[in-house]
Amino acid sequence: MPFDKLYVKVKCSICTGTRKFEASGYHSPNNPYKWKQCPYCDKDGATLVEAGDYVIMQYLIDLPEERRDKIIAEIKKIPQEK
Ligand SMILES: [Zn+2]
Repeated sequence: MPFDKLYVKVKCSICTGTRKFEASGYHSPNNPYKWKQCPYCDKDGATLVEAGDYVIMQYLIDLPEERRDKIIAEIKKIPQEK
């Protein structure tokens, strides 16, 4: 499994999704145009961040009822420690 956590795609916080890299100059002074676009995000101006509990909960709430109920039934099988 490539990831051991859940992630969500969000707008890049460095370039605000514009793909224009304007912060603190370029990577190499000998090759100033090496980074013409933001090096921190993908072609859509998005980056991956770990999904918070609220995001996971909201995702489950928004699922179709049948899928959601199946997931909840599996979660309820987890033994509770008391
Ligand atoms: Zn970016």
